[in-house]
Amino acid sequence: MKHSEIIHCPKCKGNLSSIDSQGSSGESGSYFCQTCGIKYPVIDSVVEFLPGGMVTKGLGQKLMESPRMVSIYESKWWRGCKQFSWFMGLTLDEEIELIKRITYPGEKDTVLDLACGTGIYARAFAQGSPGRNVFGLDISWPMLQYAADKARSMGIDNVRFLHGDAHSLPFADESLDVANCCGALHLFSDVRRVLGELYRTIKPGGRFSVAAAWKSDNLWGRIKAYSDEKFWKIHYFRKDELSSLLDEAGFTPTIYHAYGIWMVAGGVRR
Ligand SMILES: [Zn+2]
Repeated sequence: MKHSEIIHCPKCKGNLSSIDSQGSSGESGSYFCQTCGIKYPVIDSVVEFLPGGMVTKGLGQKLMESPRMVSIYESKWWRGCKQFSWFMGLTLDEEIELIKRITYPGEKDTVLDLACGTGIYARAFAQGSPGRNVFGLDISWPMLQYAADKARSMGIDNVRFLHGDAHSLPFADESLDVANCCGALHLFSDVRRVLGELYRTIKPGGRFSVAAAWKSDNLWGRIKAYSDEKFWKIHYFRKDELSSLLDEAGFTPTIYHAYGIWMVAGGVRR
């Protein structure tokens, strides 16, 4: 499938046409909606689905906009950090392996890495599988610029990065085989709406993997969840809560990992 058959207007869900013209201010080509006429430019190889950028962001999301945060995100000080893994009960590499086991992407599958950040998981889906069509969507423009540059420098050309809002995904109905969302479900303002959008865009039988903050029953877990919810607006999920949310949205849920502050779950789209 061509990109313009998979990505749709996030406003009206209309079909998009692509224009391969060289525009101004770093823009190279664009998409426009055949129904409502909105133009979505491609800037530095990232598709701008939020022209004007009018979305409300929580404090945790704003933190991810900081250039300093972008530079440390993939480094040994953040997700690659050994101490971080102790709190989560698995290393980044182990989490990527688990995500792949949960979603078992086919060689020609269309894959969305939702809230892709610097593109760690998007690259893991794309690398070594040139027939796979991978999209990385995020609300942070600095993260996406880093992600696009990094993929280009590694010679990965089957991943496309999109600046968009998880609450209104720019994809056609039932166009995705696999979706993944690691480290962001606890930041969304309306989790049910995001899961509803995933249900709409994933094909029946498609797989969804998610890693999110876990609220364990022990005292330390409860204190951490309370303080992070209060100060950072990060929502910690209980196991039964996440299972119910996935089930209500139309996914058959399984919890694969819950340790420290971290939970990894999967859902098969019914
Ligand atoms: Zn439209």
